Amino acid sequence: MKAVVTGGAGFIGSHLCDHLIAEGHQVVALDDLSTGSESNLEQLSGHPDFELVKGSVLDEVLVDDVVAAGDTVFHLAAAVGVHTIVDKPLESLRTNLHGTENVVEAAVRRRARYLVASTSEVYGKNDAEGLTEDADRILGSPLKSRWSYAAAKGLDELVAYVHGGASGLPCVITRFFNIVGPRQTGRYGMVVPRFVDQALAGEPVTVYGEGTQRRCFGSVFDVVPAMVRLLETPAAYNRAVNLGGKEEVSISELAQRVIDLTGSDSAVRHVPYEEAYGEGYEDMRRRMPDTSLAAGLIDYEPRWRLDDIVT
Ligand code: NAD
Repeated sequence: MKAVVTGGAGFIGSHLCDHLIAEGHQVVALDDLSTGSESNLEQLSGHPDFELVKGSVLDEVLVDDVVAAGDTVFHLAAAVGVHTIVDKPLESLRTNLHGTENVVEAAVRRRARYLVASTSEVYGKNDAEGLTEDADRILGSPLKSRWSYAAAKGLDELVAYVHGGASGLPCVITRFFNIVGPRQTGRYGMVVPRFVDQALAGEPVTVYGEGTQRRCFGSVFDVVPAMVRLLETPAAYNRAVNLGGKEEVSISELAQRVIDLTGSDSAVRHVPYEEAYGEGYEDMRRRMPDTSLAAGLIDYEPRWRLDDIVT
């Protein structure tokens, strides 16, 4: 395989590069290093089958050049993290929408099979009691700027499907649910690395709201091989497939688990949502993937437990 990994210097992308190189493939990572980092790829530096191209997926000519050298494209580059999306909503929308258009169109021009990384956020709030016509509620989040992430990812899926269908090329969409692991940074609002950083520094572990919201964290080491297998599985083509873990935990329980596992003497501090995200923010009460489609397609079975991921 001659693989192109957009967002290859990021958290999931760098692990994907490692995996592909270990499997004997050639890899070109394309990344603008906005949230990713060269240090995530230092273990591959100098490897004859690996190259990092620094640049943006918004650069149509560059994207076409990079994709021309590949036969398989994994598109992970995106503006991510609640803080990035809330602070720079327009820039995020542009990256996530036009970046995906550029990458998918280049893949189709070059007849490369492709995978587009999407998100559980496209499901919106799955605990909604009743639906109103309020535009802010479309796709679930009452915070418009965060909604832009889910909306752009939903449209990315559409771009992927439409081109996949029209071109007849193998195309897979993966919807990630709270993926965690080494190299993920807490800087952009990711909860597990933020808790770990706070616990290791002996600072209060800050839980937004009451901490009763429930999440299920999946390991990057489970989802990376699954992405590759899905692109090799014709029954997965032109489908969106959930990928995540199976162990559900409340955010308060998570905070305590992290404190215990790191041997920290930090206390848990509850902070109102408004303090972190501004007025009117509501979080999803529960987000839990059903991964039976992936199980049927590729025998996907998450093996990593939360405690192992944290330690
Ligand atoms: P990440 O921030 O570590 O990775 C994103 C990468 O994209 C970064 O390396 C960043 O520098 C790069 N990037 C951003 N804008 C770019 C641009 N214009 N051109 C080139 N590169 C650019 O985050 P991640 O968690 O590894 O996310 C990877 C993908 O998975 C994203 O598409 C994200 O939306 C999706 N996703 C992740 C999760 C999760 O739990 N980690 C959940 C749902 C979806």
